[in-house]
Amino acid sequence: MIRLANISKSFGRNQVLKGIHLTVKKGEVVAILGPSGSGKTTLLRCLNYLEKPNDGVITIDNFSVDCKKASKNDIHQLRQKTAMVFQQYNLFRHKTALENVMEGLLIVKKIPKEEARKISVELLEKVGLGEKLDAYPSQLSGGQQQRVGIARALALNPEVILFDEPTSALDPELVGEVLAVIRKIAKEGITMIIVTHEMTFAQDVASHVVFMDEGAIVEEGKPNELFNRPKEERTKQFLSRIR
Ligand code: ADP
Repeated sequence: MIRLANISKSFGRNQVLKGIHLTVKKGEVVAILGPSGSGKTTLLRCLNYLEKPNDGVITIDNFSVDCKKASKNDIHQLRQKTAMVFQQYNLFRHKTALENVMEGLLIVKKIPKEEARKISVELLEKVGLGEKLDAYPSQLSGGQQQRVGIARALALNPEVILFDEPTSALDPELVGEVLAVIRKIAKEGITMIIVTHEMTFAQDVASHVVFMDEGAIVEEGKPNELFNRPKEERTKQFLSRIR
């Protein structure tokens, strides 16, 4: 249901993505691994056009965008199908947890306020923040803020949730609570693509693992295969360095 064909991206002379091909089936949880600077975040950001790819075709749920001739409307439609969970949470500082989750429902989905409120309360309860509806981001821990970020993404009911290193800004003791929430929603069959350095988590939760290096996919497969029987030398080296 998601297909990336020949996605390429350069920043000036630096070619960061070198013709990426990737297919993600509905309900799949894909973990993207690889050394720092290999293009993982850029790939994720290209998928919802936070970065404009130089070339390639993005297809989500039968809607295709040819990056060489994408119109504003194409980009708008593509973005409607995705939601992003950011490293730095990116919450509105002057809005409460509840207002942060409601925002997308009111503005993007144009859902009436009372209904938006009801959905948002349910989602905040789901991520374990039923007691923090009226708290502002500054009154929440990093783990709690990220869980608001996840509730906000869920509220949009997207075809796919994109997680960009969702735990990398967190103190180690707060990582577990965020991974637990992602684990829980993964079980509900929501399609997810996760850039992560959490190898144990990737091994447990992902149904498919992609290893990137230098702007290309080096190897991909089932977590068991890729972690226990990597085929490519670069994958072996990467795994031996981090384990
Ligand atoms: P990863 O997520 O694997 O660490 P990134 O996608 O963040 O890698 O970055 C890949 C490369 O692209 C790096 O060399 C980085 O410096 C470069 N890059 C990323 N974003 C930008 C940008 N906005 N402008 C210029 N170069 C960038």
